[in-house]
Amino acid sequence: MKIEVAKISKSGMVMEEDEDPQIMGTSEDHVIYRQPIRVKVSVNLSGHTLVAQGKLTTAAVLECNRCLKEFEYGLSVQDFVFSKQVRSDETVDLTESIREDIIIALPMKRLCSNECKGLCPVCGRDLNAAACNCGKPREQHLFSGLDGLSF
Ligand SMILES: [Zn+2]
Ligand SMILES: [Zn+2]
Repeated sequence: MKIEVAKISKSGMVMEEDEDPQIMGTSEDHVIYRQPIRVKVSVNLSGHTLVAQGKLTTAAVLECNRCLKEFEYGLSVQDFVFSKQVRSDETVDLTESIREDIIIALPMKRLCSNECKGLCPVCGRDLNAAACNCGKPREQHLFSGLDGLSF
């Protein structure tokens, strides 16, 4: 989103735009953006300070931390704020700031569902689809052994 400072009226203005998901570039952690980033900001100029604040909404395709399946995650930034000292003949580009705030809004823990059972560490089977029998009795044995220990 680009704002021409000269076009901002004294009482401010509201700008709404869909940014191409391409602005997100490529990510190292398997995040894919297929949907546009909807930007809605109110823009005000006080003295030489331009302030744009509002909301960003989009959806990202994430990889589940447990089962590695892709899932769509709707994300929004409710308190997007951009502020900069400007000249009256300047055009300000908010793209980089929008990109950064979207990345910050990504969840640390990425799960396709809270109930996701993940992959079996032994056979690699997707445990959401079907259970497997790897190592189960041994695991139970280990935990009951630990219960008996006092720390
Ligand atoms: Zn999952
Ligand atoms: Zn298994």
